[in-house]
Amino acid sequence: MKVFVIGAGITGSLITRELSKYDLEVHVIEKAPDIGWGVTKANSAIVHGGYDDPPESVRAKFAVPGNELYDKLSKELEFDFLRTGSYVVAFKREDVEYLKKLKERGKKNGVTNLEILTAKELKEKEPNLNEEIIAALWCPTAGITEPWEVSIAAIENAQENGAIVHLGEKVTDIIVQNQRVKKILTDKGEYDADIVINAAGLFADEIAKMAGIGDFEIFPRKGEYILLDEKLKGLVNAVIFPTPTKKSKGILVVPTVDGGILLGPNAVDLPKDQKENLETTRDGLNEVYEKSRKLVPKIDLSYTVKTFAGLRPETKDKDFIIGATKVWGFINVVGIRSPGLTAAPAIAKYIAEKVLSEDLGLNLSKKLDFNPYRRKIPHLNDSNLKEWEELVKKDPSFGRTVCFCNNVSEGEILEAIRRGARTLDGVKFRTRASFGRCQGGFCSLKILEIISRELSIPLEEIKQNYENSWIIKGKVRP
Ligand SMILES: Cc1cc2nc3c(=O)[nH]c(=O)nc-3n(C[C@H](O)[C@H](O)[C@H](O)COP(=O)(O)OP(=O)(O)OC[C@H]3O[C@@H](n4cnc5c(N)ncnc54)[C@H](O)[C@@H]3O)c2cc1C
Repeated sequence: MKVFVIGAGITGSLITRELSKYDLEVHVIEKAPDIGWGVTKANSAIVHGGYDDPPESVRAKFAVPGNELYDKLSKELEFDFLRTGSYVVAFKREDVEYLKKLKERGKKNGVTNLEILTAKELKEKEPNLNEEIIAALWCPTAGITEPWEVSIAAIENAQENGAIVHLGEKVTDIIVQNQRVKKILTDKGEYDADIVINAAGLFADEIAKMAGIGDFEIFPRKGEYILLDEKLKGLVNAVIFPTPTKKSKGILVVPTVDGGILLGPNAVDLPKDQKENLETTRDGLNEVYEKSRKLVPKIDLSYTVKTFAGLRPETKDKDFIIGATKVWGFINVVGIRSPGLTAAPAIAKYIAEKVLSEDLGLNLSKKLDFNPYRRKIPHLNDSNLKEWEELVKKDPSFGRTVCFCNNVSEGEILEAIRRGARTLDGVKFRTRASFGRCQGGFCSLKILEIISRELSIPLEEIKQNYENSWIIKGKVRP
C-alpha cells in the first residue's frame, strides 16, 4: 500500500514518522527545498497546556494528548523540549474571573494541576513581571521546543525506517477515479497512490480542490515577532500570556530553548491571496513591543536579534479539520493553526490508529524492526567539556569554531550537510549557525565555503533558502 503525505511541516513530518512504524510504502512530498519551512518555521514554539481551546473543539481533543506525548518523543528523537510552565496574567478583577473560567475549561479538557497564584506568589517565581499584575493562572505542563527541529528529527527518523522523502517537489494534481485516490502528480513526476494525506498547511485548500473537495478555505492570519538576545536569559523563566482576547491568545513573552526571549505575535487577517506575505510592519512590531512591555517592563529592544512573521492557516470555524473525506483514500489534516505544534504528535497517532485502521478499515501491521531513535547533531552548548574534548580528539573539525555567536563548529556543519542541508538556512536550522546576534554577518561566508567544498559546487550556486535566493554573484575582481 502506497501512502503519500503532502507537506513536511510539523504535522506531515510526525505523520510520516508514525506511518513508518507500519509495513507501508510511505512517501512525503514537500515543495520547499527543506523540512519545516512553512508555518512550522515561524511561530511561538510553545507546547501549550491545552486549557485554552473550547472543550467541544477538535483542537481540544488533540492538544492535551499531544502535549503529553512530547516527553517520550523528545527523548526518542533528541530534540530540545523544556517544560517551563506558563502563566496567564491578570491586571484587573474581570481578568481574574476569566482566569477562573480558563481553569474550569482546562479541567474539562483534562489539564491537571492548574492553579491561580496571587501577585506575591507570582513575583517569587517571576520577579521581572509588571508590578500591576494581580494574579496569574499557572500551568506547569506547558513547555517550549524548536518546531523545525522536531520536524527535521521526525523526518530523519522516518527515513531511517524506510520512508521516502521528496524535497523541492510540488504536488500539482491528484487523480481520482470512482471516488478513489489513484495518482499524485508533481512538477517532477507522477506516482500511483492508495492514500493521500493532505498536510499542506496554508495551501491545504488548494490540495483538497485537486481531489474534488472544496468544502473549506484557508485564510492567512499574520503574527509578527521580535527575537531578543540570549543575554536576556532568565528575564522570564516560563511563558507569559496576557489574559486572552476573543481574537487570539494575545502578545506573549516566551523564553526560547536556546536562552533567547521571543516577543509576539500580533494577529492581522490578510486577504486569501497573501499566503506568502511574511513582511513585518512598523505598526505590527510597535504593537508587539508595547504589549510585551506591559507584561515585562524591563524589555529592552537594543537586544533585538531579528524580527520575523508567521502565518496562521485559519478556517472559517477556527478549528482543525481532520479525517477521511468522500474520496476514498484522501485524508485531510487541515486548518492546523495554534495549537497545531502541540497537537501534532497526537494527530499523527490518530491518523494511523483511527483514520487508516478503523475508518478506512486497513489492516496495518507494525514493523518488527522499527527503530524509534534518532541521534541529534552534537552541540558544544549542550555538552560538557570532557565529552567535547573526546569528540574533538576523534574528529578535529568539532574543534574549529565557525559561528562564534552560537558556538557552532565546522564538525556540526559537516554533519548537517551529511544529513541533507543544501542551503545556508538548511545549515542554520540544523545547527543554529548564523542564528545569533550577528545573524550570519561573520560566519555566512565560511559556511558557504564549507558547503561548496563538501558538495563540490561553486559558491555562486548556493542559496540562502528558496530557488532565487543566491548570495554570491561572482568575483568583484578577476
Ligand atoms: C504566529 C503563529 C504562532 C503559533 N504559535 C503556536 C504555538 O506556540 N504552539 C502551537 O502549538 N502552535 C502554534 N502555532 C501553530 C503551528 O505553528 C501550526 O499549527 C503548525 O506549524 C502547522 O504545521 P503544518 O505542518 O500543518 O503546516 P506547515 O508547517 O505549513 O507545513 C505544510 C507544508 O506543506 C507544504 N506544501 C504546501 N503546498 C504544497 C504542495 N503543493 N506540494 C508539496 N508541498 C506543499 C508547505 O511548503 C509546507 O512546508 C502558531 C502558528 C502561528 C502562525
